[in-house]
Amino acid sequence: MATRTKSRKRIDDVSILRSDTLAGIPWLLHGFSTRRGGVSEAYGGDALNLGITHEDTRQAVSQNRRLFFERLGAVTPAGDPWPSVAMRQVHSSLIHRVDEVPARPIQGDGMVTNRAGIVLSVRAADCLPVLLADPLRRAVGAFHAGWRGTLARIVEKGVGEFRRQFGSDPADLVVAIGPGIHRCCYEVSEDFRDQFRGQFSYADALFEEVFSSDPVRRKYPLLFMNQRAPGHGEPPRKLHLDLVEANRRQLLEAGVRAENIWISELCTSCRTDLLFSHRKEKGVTGRMMGAVGIAD
Ligand SMILES: [Zn+2]
Repeated sequence: MATRTKSRKRIDDVSILRSDTLAGIPWLLHGFSTRRGGVSEAYGGDALNLGITHEDTRQAVSQNRRLFFERLGAVTPAGDPWPSVAMRQVHSSLIHRVDEVPARPIQGDGMVTNRAGIVLSVRAADCLPVLLADPLRRAVGAFHAGWRGTLARIVEKGVGEFRRQFGSDPADLVVAIGPGIHRCCYEVSEDFRDQFRGQFSYADALFEEVFSSDPVRRKYPLLFMNQRAPGHGEPPRKLHLDLVEANRRQLLEAGVRAENIWISELCTSCRTDLLFSHRKEKGVTGRMMGAVGIAD
């Protein structure tokens, strides 16, 4: 009994994020993990690392996955975790239809299914985990969208897969975009904008030029005046990419309704107290998971 109480507490400690859009579908279960409530000793202790990394042990990761699945409610009546499918993610636009747990690992960045009792999951730590569902045709999908996958139109193609595989009308689809690196922190080089301009007519709306906010410079502008006389040279600026907006625009262009798109307001890089950020933590970090399944 003592062990049972302890394990119950463990599961309650696992902190997950859920979207209103998907939570309203009675047959669906979903969630985005955070870094809190796990058993990993790496990454500050009690971390819910869900990806195989250099710093963590496989044992901790598998225990964390079990805790996360229990917290999601993805367990059989006998108490076993549901079978789950995860991909070897390669920042592509490759999408698989999954009818059963594949015998060998699959490579790609998106999955769709209409089978009950299977969890589809993607791992991320700055890239966006994106979950889709068709409430009418009982189908779900999970996608991994970093800048490369976004450039390759992974979520737009994801909507296309729903149409093709399940006959979905994009206007019926509901979407949850989980936590990832937001515009506030996602500094990129100029060639990103060139690449996005080559793909999207609205590319310029996805980038923001952030001017130097050096406090010394702002407080004593005269000190810097002679260095930068009016009309001579540009003030230092940085380019930031809005990955969330890029994916939202793709979904809209594919026919998804704006009110059916839920977006987590949490930026991974701003919130390393709650989330893992590959960039902020300089690669020494865990992985979170976005997961979705049909409960039936
Ligand atoms: Zn941020």
